[in-house]
Amino acid sequence: MTRCLDCGAAREVDQCPACGLTSAAAEVMFRKRLVKQTTFFLAGSLIFPYVTPIYPPLDLDLMLVFFGVLFFLALTIAVFLDRRARKHQEIEILKRVYAGFIPLPWILAGAILLNGRLDSVSKVVYVPAQIHGKFLMKGLVRGSRRLVVPSWRPNQKFERLPVDPDDFDRFAVGDRIEVGVEPGVLGIPWVYGVYREGRPRE
Ligand SMILES: [Zn+2]
Repeated sequence: MTRCLDCGAAREVDQCPACGLTSAAAEVMFRKRLVKQTTFFLAGSLIFPYVTPIYPPLDLDLMLVFFGVLFFLALTIAVFLDRRARKHQEIEILKRVYAGFIPLPWILAGAILLNGRLDSVSKVVYVPAQIHGKFLMKGLVRGSRRLVVPSWRPNQKFERLPVDPDDFDRFAVGDRIEVGVEPGVLGIPWVYGVYREGRPRE
């Protein structure tokens, strides 16, 4: 027994009894949808690095690692799907798994936006810190800039604060700063801003 590549219905003959497509037509339909889904996934993945610096999560680096794994997994599944479809092998389960991956970049980006957007300025907590290091990674989009400070959270040695180019340039190693942290409405703490210690915060 084989299954229709497009709708997944079991079929004994070449033409699918459920959707009426021949096996060749079903493969074309399946491939079209795969391209559409993958495009949507890639678009979300491209948006992600633009969205994250707006309300940068304190654990941004961890999230980027997680996101990288997710990205790699999804594309691997897409390649497998394509190969198995070409050989007309069973793809129903893999198709469903892949469909679950498709909206994830959009959901994650949306969650990070909402998390900061709906937060109230009155909840900002200012934590004193001294800069231990600076980290710049040039990237395709805009690069990653981090100020490294000792962590104030339990079970965490350092915080790698995501900052914009201005803040990155105006602070040096050894500077004493205050880190404005917001709790996030979804519980994802994010960096509201970094300020020079003892100066009025603009
Ligand atoms: Zn069908």
